[in-house]
Amino acid sequence: MPKKIKKLAVLTSGGDSPGMNAAIRSVVRTCAYHDVECVGVYRGYEGLIEGDFKSMGARSVRGIINKGGTILKSARSQTFRTPEGRKIAYQNLVDNNIEGLVVIGGDGSFTGALVFNQEFGFPVMGIPGTIDNDIFGTSHTLGFDTALNTVVDAIDKIRDTASSHNRLFFIEVMGRDVGHIALNTGIAGGAEEILIPEEDLGLDRLVESLNRSRKSGKTSSIVIVAEGDKIGKNIFELKEYVDDNMEGYDVRVSVLGHMQRGGAPSCFDRVLASRMGVKAVETLLEGKTNYMVGLIANKMELTPLDNAIKGKTKINLELLRVSDIMSI
Ligand code: ATP
Repeated sequence: MPKKIKKLAVLTSGGDSPGMNAAIRSVVRTCAYHDVECVGVYRGYEGLIEGDFKSMGARSVRGIINKGGTILKSARSQTFRTPEGRKIAYQNLVDNNIEGLVVIGGDGSFTGALVFNQEFGFPVMGIPGTIDNDIFGTSHTLGFDTALNTVVDAIDKIRDTASSHNRLFFIEVMGRDVGHIALNTGIAGGAEEILIPEEDLGLDRLVESLNRSRKSGKTSSIVIVAEGDKIGKNIFELKEYVDDNMEGYDVRVSVLGHMQRGGAPSCFDRVLASRMGVKAVETLLEGKTNYMVGLIANKMELTPLDNAIKGKTKINLELLRVSDIMSI
């Protein structure tokens, strides 16, 4: 039997995502359920270094399951990247009798947690919180589902104006390295084309495809573009190219930006966050460390943090084919 842990800490780090609050709530309540003290750390690793801690009980997380963002605030900490900074963080944890840390964040935050564990042997557990869904070891990261719903809602609204004016809209969505948001929302929003970082459609093929759509009777079109799409042109350059190479369309551009990170978490993200929080705390209490909790085939599973950081998520090729067929 591992030594009984009496006190844990939780922090949110890197970019915020909807569902982080629901995960904090779950971590705090699972601790209370197992009679373990819980401490919230403000502003991620920055608060760990500054000793910005707050004791949290089951009632202190009331009314947050439906809130976007993170009540613990998030930050990117340069000091934590230095051995000196991490030493101070470790001393603060020891001085406060904290025996394990739950990190809610992306792969950068997990890298920090792993480095910290390797230096001090301090138990750490990761919960994947990012809208990009770019972490290996889970089919869904926290906030991905909510972001999809936010984007689809925006596409629906833009389509109203596109079809009223025979317009072609390029809509940029988040996804510097992966096209999960673009591909899913493109299909759900009925986009004519979807440009993602994993595939190079090519500009000529794009124009060809838009021309084909128009010949088949479409009067307006929507193209979803991931920030890091492989053609390598930003959304304004794409507009310029189509303006120069296609006639008859009034081309407009819409960059959705940070609105994709905000808003109340979806039902799916709230349930996922609740499950992940329980699994993270109970895994630490079992004496395990250096894992990320994730959803695989609808089960809570553990993936070593190292694999979660290094592994690549793959785009669903079946979805690519579906999108091709739908844009006929
Ligand atoms: P997002 O996916 O939203 O960018 P993230 O968790 O990947 O989230 P990062 O800014 O990459 O966000 O990382 C968050 C924090 O983790 C950094 O500000 C830093 O404090 C810590 N961190 C990242 N990499 C390391 C590292 N190699 N060593 C120590 N700490 C690190």
